[in-house]
Amino acid sequence: MEPLVVVDHVNKHFGELHVLKDITTTVTRGEVVVVIGPSGSGKSTLCRAINRLETIDDGVISIDGTRLPEEGSELARLRADVGMVFQSFNLFSHKTVLENVTLGQIKVRKRSKAEAEKRAMELLERVGVANQAQKMPSQLSGGQQQRVAIARALAMDPKVMLLDEPTSALDPEMITEVLDVMVQLAKDGMTMIVVTHEMGFARKAADRVVFMADGEIVEESTPEQFFTAPSSDRARDFLSKIL
Ligand code: ADP
Ligand code: MG
Repeated sequence: MEPLVVVDHVNKHFGELHVLKDITTTVTRGEVVVVIGPSGSGKSTLCRAINRLETIDDGVISIDGTRLPEEGSELARLRADVGMVFQSFNLFSHKTVLENVTLGQIKVRKRSKAEAEKRAMELLERVGVANQAQKMPSQLSGGQQQRVAIARALAMDPKVMLLDEPTSALDPEMITEVLDVMVQLAKDGMTMIVVTHEMGFARKAADRVVFMADGEIVEESTPEQFFTAPSSDRARDFLSKIL
């Protein structure tokens, strides 16, 4: 099993708050990891640290064997290897759907406009919104916007996709269409770290569940084991509230 994302003894504080407490975990190539835990437990901070949108105090994070630097052009290049999808879709509101999916390819991956558009249309097709390519994001439903955000991240050919509560801001009827895209992505072999409380997705697609509470990884197990027989009181308590 080849490690793709290595998080090794990572600590992070926000002032007095110890938000990541000695976090150590490894994600292997092709693995799908679901991160679950109460609000405020550090899940988003961990995702952001993996993409270096947050600095860390100590420890090491590496992607595909390369340790993340603090800054500079090397960081921009490595960051492009990590596709990020947020709860709030974060599309460029003044650009069309197609432009949203081509811009990074042209700027960071140095593709020609034609090449970028071809790839963008393939991906928009894959997530089921190719017919929306010329529209502005605001003309799309939340579920469609989130699928565009997934296509935009995929367009960079990331080595790993990080999705932080990608369905939490969606109306219930749109959750499935986004989860279906994520399940397909997982089946296609994409390495994924997904923060979500969607148990159906975890059961269908996850190889492993990481349960976080108060900045710590409290337990890691298979979805089956986690949802039926969690080993910690904190996980049992959490599950009793969400299920
Ligand atoms: P989760 O995603 O599990 O809900 P977060 O990683 O967003 O948790 O937040 C963990 C803790 O860190 C929370 O108590 C939150 O208020 C705090 N926090 C997050 N970002 C910042 C920040 N930029 N400055 C100060 N505190 C922060
Ligand atoms: Mg969060």
